Amino acid sequence: MPFLSPGDAARSASLLRTAFAQRFGLEADVVARAPGRVNLIGEHTDYNGGLVLPLALPHATLAVLRLREDDVVRCASTDVDEPWSGRLDDLAPGGERPGWVGYAAGVAWALGTPRGFDLLVDSTVPSGAGLSSSAALECAVGTALLAATGAPLDDPARRSLARAAIRAETEVVGAPTGGMDQTVAMLAEAGSALLVDFEADEPSATSVPLPADGWVWLVTDTRVSHALVDGGYAARRADCEAAAAALDVPSLRRAEIDAVEALPDERVRRRARHVVTEIARVEDAVAALAAGDLDAFGALMDASHASMRDDFEISCAELDAAVDAARGTGAIGARMTGGGFGGSSVALVPAERAEGVAAAIDARFAADGFAPPQHLRAVASAGAQVL
Ligand code: ADP
Ligand code: MG
Repeated sequence: MPFLSPGDAARSASLLRTAFAQRFGLEADVVARAPGRVNLIGEHTDYNGGLVLPLALPHATLAVLRLREDDVVRCASTDVDEPWSGRLDDLAPGGERPGWVGYAAGVAWALGTPRGFDLLVDSTVPSGAGLSSSAALECAVGTALLAATGAPLDDPARRSLARAAIRAETEVVGAPTGGMDQTVAMLAEAGSALLVDFEADEPSATSVPLPADGWVWLVTDTRVSHALVDGGYAARRADCEAAAAALDVPSLRRAEIDAVEALPDERVRRRARHVVTEIARVEDAVAALAAGDLDAFGALMDASHASMRDDFEISCAELDAAVDAARGTGAIGARMTGGGFGGSSVALVPAERAEGVAAAIDARFAADGFAPPQHLRAVASAGAQVL
């Protein structure tokens, strides 16, 4: 049960430059990298004006790019058999192109890129695992497009790239994502999680230092695939909007728990209760980290999982099994993470027990008749960079 390697970014970048030159016949202008993420706590809160606490993974997507003189766009990915060739106009919402190209190149439309480009991408972020391969891809390409024009990757540029990547996913791809993934992919700092507050139009982000040694954030990809464009995520969003409307608040961030408990519709009430209690758990989790109280942090992870399983109903048998096995064998907290309906779990584990917990999850999956999961160590890493 080896842990999934994040790869060696410098080595991969040089291999990818060579592959780019072979494929397109010219040297690339730039290589950029953007990470996947795991959310430690605060699920389905971003689109409710709430709080999230993700960290950027060491696993990342690399984008090798060269700007062209015409409006032709050529995209290739080491994960996709067929490269795609089209024009800038095809990248607009409603344009003709394969689904993955919207993720890979929709950010060019959002940025208003005036020139075509050749692009090759490669990723160590598992796709569709709730670890945000989508934002890693959008942000890697956005960063490469910016760097190819010679513009600096300063803080305002990072924020505007996050906005462009969000527009690529919501408007070009049409996935109703809330903005957490792109924000952490652009703004994360190594060694810290990122507390993001979505109440204002422009999300505010604060780095929250994590314990350095002795602990592992163990991520388990259940290999149960999810797709945000499926109905479950959108249905949860609709329930949250219905709750906010019934409570006459601009978003569930402003809802009081007593008012939520009095909502007449039983399902909408449970959905809103998850969001309101989850936002409070993020605040408590940040306080627990500041106090060095990891047991308290773990208990909040457990409570978050129960809320997602019972009130928000976005867990599944494999996620519940991973969380249960982790808790039973040494994790001090565990929860599903990401949009739900499959994807990954995250557990806080004393470092010396990480392998044992991962093995226990494998054994539990085998006993329950599930396909083998894949584990990785989520070492808090930096946001997008030019290599
Ligand atoms: P997640 O972000 O949790 O991995 P999503 O459903 O949001 O899952 O995004 C996954 C989609 O992003 C894939 O189906 C594919 O279209 C696109 N994608 C991600 N990484 C790559 C890649 N390296 N090459 C091509 N497409 C990719
Ligand atoms: Mg995604």
